Amino acid sequence: MSTADLFTPPTAAEAAKVTPMMGQYLAVKQKHPELLLFYRMGDFYELFFDDAVKASAALDIALTKRGQHQGPDIPMCGVPVHAHTAYLAKLIKAGFRVAICEQTETPEEAKKRGGKTLVNRDVVRIITPGTLTEDTLLEAGANNFLIALLAQGQNEIALACCDLSTGLFELETLSRAALPATLARLSPREALLPESMAQAEDVRLALKEAGVAPTARPLSLFDANNCRERLLKFYNLATTDAWGQLSVGEVTAAGALLDYIMLTQVGARPALLPPRRLLKGGRLEIDAATRRNLELMITTSGETSGSLLHTIDRTVTAAGARLLTSRLTAPLTDPAEINTRLDSVAYALKQSVSLEGWRSILKSAPDLERALSRLALGRGGPRDLASIRDALIAAQRLSAQLQHNDMPAELVDNAKHLVGHSNIIDEFTRALAAELPMLTRDGGFVAKDYSPQLDELRSLRDESRRVMAQLQMKYMSESGVNTLKIKHNNIIGYHIEVPAAQADKLLGKPETYIHRQTMATGVRFTTTELASLERDISSAADRALAVELQIFEELRQRLLEQQGALALTALALATFDHTFALAVLAESEHWCRPLVDDSLAFDIKGGRHAVVEAVLKARTGPAFVANDCNLMAQQRLWLLTGPNMAGKSTFLRQNALIVVLAQMGAYVPASSAHIGVVDRLFSRVGAADDLARGRSTFMVEMVETATILNMATARSLVILDEIGRGTATFDGLSIAWAVAEHLHNTSQCRGLFATHYHELTKLAEQLSQLYCATMRIKEWEGEVVFLHEVMAGSAERSYGLHVAQIAGLPMPVIQRAEQILLALENEKKAQGGSNIPAPAPAPVIMANPLKEALSAINPDALSPRDALDALYKLKALA
Ligand code: ATP
Repeated sequence: MSTADLFTPPTAAEAAKVTPMMGQYLAVKQKHPELLLFYRMGDFYELFFDDAVKASAALDIALTKRGQHQGPDIPMCGVPVHAHTAYLAKLIKAGFRVAICEQTETPEEAKKRGGKTLVNRDVVRIITPGTLTEDTLLEAGANNFLIALLAQGQNEIALACCDLSTGLFELETLSRAALPATLARLSPREALLPESMAQAEDVRLALKEAGVAPTARPLSLFDANNCRERLLKFYNLATTDAWGQLSVGEVTAAGALLDYIMLTQVGARPALLPPRRLLKGGRLEIDAATRRNLELMITTSGETSGSLLHTIDRTVTAAGARLLTSRLTAPLTDPAEINTRLDSVAYALKQSVSLEGWRSILKSAPDLERALSRLALGRGGPRDLASIRDALIAAQRLSAQLQHNDMPAELVDNAKHLVGHSNIIDEFTRALAAELPMLTRDGGFVAKDYSPQLDELRSLRDESRRVMAQLQMKYMSESGVNTLKIKHNNIIGYHIEVPAAQADKLLGKPETYIHRQTMATGVRFTTTELASLERDISSAADRALAVELQIFEELRQRLLEQQGALALTALALATFDHTFALAVLAESEHWCRPLVDDSLAFDIKGGRHAVVEAVLKARTGPAFVANDCNLMAQQRLWLLTGPNMAGKSTFLRQNALIVVLAQMGAYVPASSAHIGVVDRLFSRVGAADDLARGRSTFMVEMVETATILNMATARSLVILDEIGRGTATFDGLSIAWAVAEHLHNTSQCRGLFATHYHELTKLAEQLSQLYCATMRIKEWEGEVVFLHEVMAGSAERSYGLHVAQIAGLPMPVIQRAEQILLALENEKKAQGGSNIPAPAPAPVIMANPLKEALSAINPDALSPRDALDALYKLKALA
């Protein structure tokens, strides 16, 4: 069956021909043709037509049919309401967006409208990857970002970024070229952008590479004035001044983002915090390839286990884990800010005796941010109220136990927000029962003694139940049927039931016992007294529930009024958790506080690779061998040679990871570390296949190398692992050679360059700041032992055949390879080795008298005569 044209929106005449229910379905579906429509029918969400075909395939559930439409059967499938989130998760992951269509009135209200009593239904929420709020659909330790992008002129993009599940809302402007790196940093789940921009090749590719679902929106929704007005109205402000100097693009992107959120939440007001503008240049720039290569968040095979994040995460709360993730994805570049964070970790380390106690308090703190966000959107329940209360209690307890003396600035700022919610805590403790139901509509969550009105209704309800028991006793003795029971079911409500054999005793008194049903197992009756009691019970229960719902709403409003203050408390809890976690990590793994400043130093003593060390430790095999790395001025660029498997890649990456850790404000795996702040970090491996992007291995390598050569500055750290390996030996060698020269002479960055082209070590003769290092090995009885130690010098050979042998290549192949290797080496010796021309002289970066004289001039302080003199002087120097 072709599915493409199963659903064609009905004309008015067609809609008139279908059943009322199908007519209603078609009318709703017509408004949301691009979404899967979950149409509520009783305890199921049903999907029809094309939606059913797609969803049943994606969910692997049965595709059935219901009636016919214009001839053919209507395909249908359904998911139970109580378990629908699991199905939603699958559909969202598979790239679908879903509209939830619910009854918007009760059957009683429908009846009152008269005529045909089909209950009204409409879409109450649209679920997209970027607008999730349910814990079951979210990852606890990671943000779920929705972003809006808008081109600003030729070269810039305004970006608004929000996590609906926590309320976080940020704005920034980036260069168009920085889009891939920004997407890699944020890993948004969904990106909104004008249709025209979605078609731009660079944007399309960047989104595709980052695996982000683009949601193209009409350009009219990015109208600057409307967007601004929408924002102001939402925050009830007259101007955006309080948010700092925002560009028109940023305000427009924020407004478009807000519009989409309102559309998907269908009127529910989200708990968004005021937008915060992020400044350009405050973060260590790490592009997507470097992030992948360093395995910061996930490994190259796509797993979290084995990533740096997974290895260092000692947080005990979801909010703490989210903060750790966001700091790890965006390390800083301002030494002062970095040191502020390091001071916090140092403080926690000093208090290490108390640390476990504090962490156990934090462990009891539920996820305040997400509970608040659900409540704001009308999706929260009684347990969310209790979660917020419990988080506030934990915050107060933590504050009471903290050692406030000597507390550094960052923690002092946060500690202020741990306290100050006593009113909420007291009120909620009085209001909420000990055991809480999942859903508000189930009632029973308000504690006794909180509301006299509620207590009264409840005792009326409970009293009626006692009266019911008495009534049963009365009917038993009146009728003489000992097995008579008063029962309840959802169809006929309360009724008297007696076994069929005893029924005559009641049938004989029709003035009291009114016959309702005869079943195989028994006969059912009612009485006017029973019916009236039932009305009392249900009206007391209904009224009690109404009072509870009103109390819920009042409590919810109280929280929403305090939203700003609560968000700060949530951030404070997260900051303490994050800081304590880093301290625990530093203590248990013997990490040190790095010295981070404005210099160009890079001096690591006893550095280790956090992940490889942890893996070796878990295996209880040989311990990790620590290594120094000093990229001081005379040896700014290291050329590292050494056998396969000797530890070159590990050494390269460990130094990059130490930079990331230090600049996010964490201690580092080393015995000491002095790092002049790095502005951009690049890491490349020479053989990463990227067939998915339609590029050959070598092409990827060259594109990435080009980026580095164009972007690296003297403040950058560049790590190149076997560049040029993916092509013919001489092509590769010459590219690697020229790249090393460029990094040394032009970029002048700090760098580590690992290679198997041993010829490159000759470069040291020409490049004054190139330092040759190698991996120490021991040859013993024909075996090679890797010592994993880095030392000065260069390797003669790669011992590739040795590695091939231990990898299990058949012996005849190894022996043949040895013969060939010998022959090739002899041939090369006979030719007298390579003869590479000297590079063009490096630009002189030393004294430049013209430049110096020019920068010494202060034009504002010069008289016309002085200015003329200065001009003559400059001309003489040129
Ligand atoms: P190739 O040239 O074949 O890519 P390599 O020289 O880059 O190899 P690595 O991949 O860094 O070698 O390391 C190989 C293995 O050696 C690692 O998986 C790790 O188990 C071990 N290793 C690396 N460095 C160390 C170290 N400093 N201490 C202990 N073991 C190490």
